[in-house]
Amino acid sequence: MEREMIIGVSTSFSAAHSIPGHVKCGKVHGHNFKVEVEISGKVGRNGMVMDFFDLKRILDEVVSKFDHTLLNELIEIPTSENICLKIFEELKERGLNVRRVRVAENEDKWAEIRK
Ligand SMILES: [Zn+2]
Repeated sequence: MEREMIIGVSTSFSAAHSIPGHVKCGKVHGHNFKVEVEISGKVGRNGMVMDFFDLKRILDEVVSKFDHTLLNELIEIPTSENICLKIFEELKERGLNVRRVRVAENEDKWAEIRK
């Protein structure tokens, strides 16, 4: 019997942003954002849901467009929530059965989507 299972990968990127109208975050500043992604699927005959290398490559492709950018040029209000939404949608567009995306701008601050 093929078992449904969740697998995950993570990556990171460095970028600047400012949050329009925000008292503290209104000034341009930077973060080393950490991104975690989980997908689910059946464990195939090769013993894998998906090759980690393929999943990581897709995530890196999606995230690379944010690396070393001013995020305000790509997302109108580049909060962790909106970055998370964007990554979630782009991974779904690439056909992945995405279950969870987390974008952390610090160790103690993150936004997450679960499906
Ligand atoms: Zn910030």
